[in-house]
Amino acid sequence: MSTNASIQAFKEAQNLIPGGVNSPVRAFKSVGATPIFIKEGQGGKLMDIDGNSYIDYVQSWGPLIFGHRDESIEAAVIEAVKHGLSFGAPTLAETELAKEVVDIFDSIDKVRFVSSGTEAVMSAIRLARGFTGRDDILKFEGCYHGHSDSLLVQAGSGAATFGNPSSPGVPADFTKHTLLAKYNDIESVKKCFEQSSDIACVIIEPIAGNMGLVPADKDFLAELRTLCDANGTLLIFDEVMSGFRATLYGAESITGTSPDIITLGKVIGGGMPVGAFGARCEIMAQLSPDGPVYQAGTLSGNPVAMAAGLAAVRKIKANAPIYKTLQNRAKHLVEGMKEVAAKHGITLQVDVRGSMFGFFFNDKKVTNFDEAADSNLDMFATFHTEMMKEGFYFACSQFETGFISTATTDAMIEDTITASERVFGKINDARR
Ligand SMILES: *Cc1c(COP(=O)(O)O)cnc(C)c1O
Repeated sequence: MSTNASIQAFKEAQNLIPGGVNSPVRAFKSVGATPIFIKEGQGGKLMDIDGNSYIDYVQSWGPLIFGHRDESIEAAVIEAVKHGLSFGAPTLAETELAKEVVDIFDSIDKVRFVSSGTEAVMSAIRLARGFTGRDDILKFEGCYHGHSDSLLVQAGSGAATFGNPSSPGVPADFTKHTLLAKYNDIESVKKCFEQSSDIACVIIEPIAGNMGLVPADKDFLAELRTLCDANGTLLIFDEVMSGFRATLYGAESITGTSPDIITLGKVIGGGMPVGAFGARCEIMAQLSPDGPVYQAGTLSGNPVAMAAGLAAVRKIKANAPIYKTLQNRAKHLVEGMKEVAAKHGITLQVDVRGSMFGFFFNDKKVTNFDEAADSNLDMFATFHTEMMKEGFYFACSQFETGFISTATTDAMIEDTITASERVFGKINDARR
């Protein structure tokens, strides 16, 4: 298998684009490799510019729940394009997609569309601050909420303290309002509330997918809700990844805890750039032009993106049982990999939520970021590189979630398990 064209293309791209990529994780740095350049996708497969074909478990990092080139989404986009790419004026498709979102999520009465998950979260936080008249926010270690300033935060001298910027270019003055707590650890949240009576919102991925797949404990979320209510703090579920991925009706439908604000992205755009945030009327009424909290976007709700999102969401609604099928398939994949890994003395921790799956090279169960970080990253890197050679495209970091689509067949999954057994064998031989 040659990847010479990709290697050459990456060299060229690096001369013109920082790191050769327009989003850092794509550079394959954490597995010590270089990325393949994609020519096209079809269903559950990707083809690179060298002509190699891969089973795709990234699916554009989540959006493509029906796989590449889904016929109905493609047709909807082509139809929309014929009428114009963008008007900066209202179109019917926006109301139609809003109607679907409001209908699906119990906690959403009104929704606003933006063009990325980052924008959705950034705006939701401003809205929560405007609504409560407070400045502080609380987030969890290992949760990712996009790259806006106040969310690029790392723990100070331990969790439950105000955070430090995790990136140069973010003033410490911006992150001094961001408190950090430990995922699945309610005591660390209580400490934050003791430290500040000015917390506008708690933001959490209720099914964390950005430290690998680490779902929040049901009781933990319920206690979080109680703490928020007791302190007049809003609870934001960041479902940019888990929304329409884990289940149709949002994490509230499987955890029993209702948030005040939900942020969406990825699947809701069907592969086009769409983000969204919604809440009950009272909160959304604070948003400009109804209220004083400013938020805007030239290409927000543009007709092509709305057409893709509408086609995706309608197809999901018409096929709600897919989540069961997808979950069974995802389970089969990771349980199968876990079993063949064990044959070679390698312990995997696995989990699934709908079409999302995770596997850690870790002897112990993973419930928070510290535990995820304890995984064998070298072993993951070898696994990733060897699976690429076998024709399987997994996310290039231990701290990412895997995705299957409705186009990921049982046969593809069987092939993956078989190939992974060869790879686990190699890894085991190498360490003897
Ligand atoms: C991907 C993601 C974001 C950021 O979305 P972008 O579209 O990449 O800006 C925010 N929150 C979560 C939970 C995500 O998974």
